[in-house]
Amino acid sequence: MSSKNILITGANKGIGFETARQLGNAGNYIFVTARDESKGLKALKKLESGNIKCEFVQLDVCDIESIKSAYKIVSSKIDRLDVLINNAGILIDKSGILNAEYELILKTIDTNSIGPLQITQTFDSLFKSGSRVINVSSGLGAISDGMSKYAPIYSISKTALNAVTCQLALTYRKRGVSVNSISPGWVRTDLGGRGASRSVEKGAESIVWLAMDAPGELTGKFIMDKHEIPW
Ligand code: NDP
Repeated sequence: MSSKNILITGANKGIGFETARQLGNAGNYIFVTARDESKGLKALKKLESGNIKCEFVQLDVCDIESIKSAYKIVSSKIDRLDVLINNAGILIDKSGILNAEYELILKTIDTNSIGPLQITQTFDSLFKSGSRVINVSSGLGAISDGMSKYAPIYSISKTALNAVTCQLALTYRKRGVSVNSISPGWVRTDLGGRGASRSVEKGAESIVWLAMDAPGELTGKFIMDKHEIPW
């Protein structure tokens, strides 16, 4: 199987790191990105010690200059990005929707919804037929089951990310680039907490499947455990 060029945001820990590990072990080349250079380099060292082919690129999903400079570095090395995994995300809700502060709302939507869109826009020229964009969303963003009040702004940001997925999928259809959202389930990470029901290995499983084995025609969908789920 040929090696794919894969870029993962927020790859220094949690689901992003585990996804880098699994996709790297499958023989792919990983652009390990993180907003914090020292955390990113630490993650890179761990991956390299497992003989994974990878390199670190600084990328803060909320900083357009950082996104542009990451593009400059990556595009100087490759002319095709096979998979972009928009994984970086935050959950910083502290209250119900009526008390959510403006700064918290902006930061959450900037990180979880606008960041993935701006990264996709910036890296557009590297997407060729067969390339895949994977947006790591959440079941908390699904509106069809009535939603949960647990983290309202986070939920809204993931619903918006799902809309970004749909719009990008429509736009990229003719170019043969697929774009899907994925819900990893409730995963034991800093974000998910220790009480979560899933391991990081399980959380990364469907992301890896979407990157490597899902049919290329699968696009504009919301996926969990390798199956389509309602938005
Ligand atoms: P973690 O908190 O373990 O990791 C989040 C990652 O995102 C970290 O690498 C963090 O970097 C990075 N990040 C945050 N903000 C930025 C930014 N501005 N620029 C670049 N990187 C940033 O969380 P998870 O691994 O659990 O989450 C990964 C994704 O999975 C998220 O999108 C999350 O919403 C989603 N998800 C997680 C679930 C769970 O139960 N864990 C459930 C459903 C969805 P840093 O270390 O610098 O903070």
